[in-house]
Amino acid sequence: MSNRNLGVVFASSEAAPFAKTGGLGDVAGSLPAALKDAGCNVVVMLPKYGSIPQHYVDRMEHIADFYVPLGWRQEYCGLEKLTERGVDYIFIDNERYFKRDQLYSYFDDGERFAFFSKAVVESLQHIDFQCDILHCNDWQTALAPVFLREFYMDMPLYQNVKTVFTIHNIAFQGQYGDKVLSDVCGLAHIPNAARQLYCGPQTVNFMKGALCYSDRITTVSPTYAREIQMPFYGEHMDGILRERSSVLSGILNGIDMVTWDPRTDQSIAADYTAADLSGKKECKAALQREMGFEVRDDVPLMGMVTRLTKQKGMDLVQYALDAVLSRGIQVVVLGTGDTCYEDSLRYFDWKYPNMAARITFDSDLSRRIYAGCDLFLMPSLFEPCGLSQMIAMRYGTLPIVRETGGLKDSVQPYNRFTGEGTGFSFANFNGDEMTGVILAAADVFWNNSNDWKKLQIHAMTRDFSWRRSAEEYSGLYHGLHPEV
Ligand code: ADP
Repeated sequence: MSNRNLGVVFASSEAAPFAKTGGLGDVAGSLPAALKDAGCNVVVMLPKYGSIPQHYVDRMEHIADFYVPLGWRQEYCGLEKLTERGVDYIFIDNERYFKRDQLYSYFDDGERFAFFSKAVVESLQHIDFQCDILHCNDWQTALAPVFLREFYMDMPLYQNVKTVFTIHNIAFQGQYGDKVLSDVCGLAHIPNAARQLYCGPQTVNFMKGALCYSDRITTVSPTYAREIQMPFYGEHMDGILRERSSVLSGILNGIDMVTWDPRTDQSIAADYTAADLSGKKECKAALQREMGFEVRDDVPLMGMVTRLTKQKGMDLVQYALDAVLSRGIQVVVLGTGDTCYEDSLRYFDWKYPNMAARITFDSDLSRRIYAGCDLFLMPSLFEPCGLSQMIAMRYGTLPIVRETGGLKDSVQPYNRFTGEGTGFSFANFNGDEMTGVILAAADVFWNNSNDWKKLQIHAMTRDFSWRRSAEEYSGLYHGLHPEV
C-alpha cells in the first residue's frame, strides 16, 4: 500500500472546449478536472482536429513524434500538449486523419479511430506519465483495450495498466466491414480478438471489443446500466453485458454547477437562491410576457428544452397537449428535431394562447425557460443520463420525468404523505399516465404551496456536481489497483 496518486489517461474523441458534438464532449470537458480534485493524476488524450480554434493550437507544445503500426502501415503520430484550467491535454496529431472540418461522418472513420485508439496506447511509452488506468469512452476509443491486451502486454510498462470503458451512447457502436480487421487493425490472425470483434457475417463491432476486453465497464447512470442488459435498451449488446454484469456499473454524470447557477446567471431576469426564491417569480413573469401568455403567478408554467425526437418522448407530448392546455396550464417548448414534431408543436402554438413553440436552438432562451418555469417535462423513452432535468432542479423548476435511466436516478418523486421529493415521475411510456402526473403536479402547485416550496428547496440543494461523480470513478479506479 503506497499513497501515491493514481495515474489516469482519459481517452476521448471529443472534449469541451476544444471539440464537442454532444454529451461526451461535456463529460470529457468537466470530469478530468474533478478527478484531479479527487486525487488522481490525469491526462486527457484526444485527436488534434482541424476544427480546434487557432488560439488553442498556438499554445500547444510539441512533446514527441513516432510512428504507429496499423496493419501494414506505419502512421505518423505527433503529441502536442496543452494545459487548460489545470488539466493536461495531449492532442494526437496526424493531419491525414484529423485535419478535417468535422469530427465524424467520413468514409474512413473506422480507420481514423482505430488509429486514434492505437496511438493512445503507443503514446504511453512517449509521455512522462505513469498510467495506472486507461479510461476509454465510446466506440471511437473502444479498440484501445483490445490493442493493449493483444500487442503491448508483454512490455513491463503496460503490465499494470487497467482499462475502464464508459458507454455514453450505446446506439453508436462503430460497425465496419471485416476488411478493417486485417487491413487496419492487424487483428485478423488472432483468433480470440477476431471472435470477440465479429458481430455478424463480415461485420466487426469496435464497441463489442471494448465490452469483451475492458477490466471495468461503466455507463452514465445506475439504472441505465441495468436497462442495457435487456433487449429493449441494449442495441444487441445486452447478451454480452449480461455476461459481464459483474464488472458493469453506472455512475451518474454531473452538471457544471458554476455555469448553471440561478444566483449568477446573467441571462435571466432576476437572480435567486434556495433561501430567497423571490427572483424566480420575476423570471416567471418575464418569461410569460416574452411568450405572450397572461402574466399570472397562479397559473402553472411548464417548459421543455429538448431535441424533438422519439427518444425524448415527443409522441407522448403530442398525445397529451390538448388535455394539458385545455386545463389552462401554460406550456413553452424550445427545441429542434424531426419535422413531424416541429410541425405539430407549431399547430398547438397556433391553436392555444397558453402554448408557445420556439423551434430553434437558443442557449439564452433555454436559461430563461429553466429559470422561469414551475415544471419541466422530460418523458424520455430512454435516457442514459440526461442533463436537462438536473439543470431544471438546480433552478428550482420541478421535473416531470419518465422513470428510465438517469431520470430515475436523479429525480426523487414527490411523496404526498411526507412532502419529500425533488419532482414527479411516471413508470410506463403511456400518454394517459403522463397526463395524469402532469395534472397531479399542477394540483400540488394550486393547492399545496407548502409542499411545492419544500420540493423546490430539495431540488435546488441536491448535489449534482462533478465532484460526486469523480469520487465514484476514483473509487472504481482504486478497486482495480488495491496496491496503491
Ligand atoms: P441530449 O444530450 O440527449 O440531447 P441532455 O438532457 O443530456 O439531452 O442535454 C441536452 C442539453 O442541450 C441541455 O443542456 C439542453 O439545455 C440543451 N438543449 C437542447 N435543445 C436545445 C435548444 N433547442 N436550445 C438550447 N439548448 C438546448
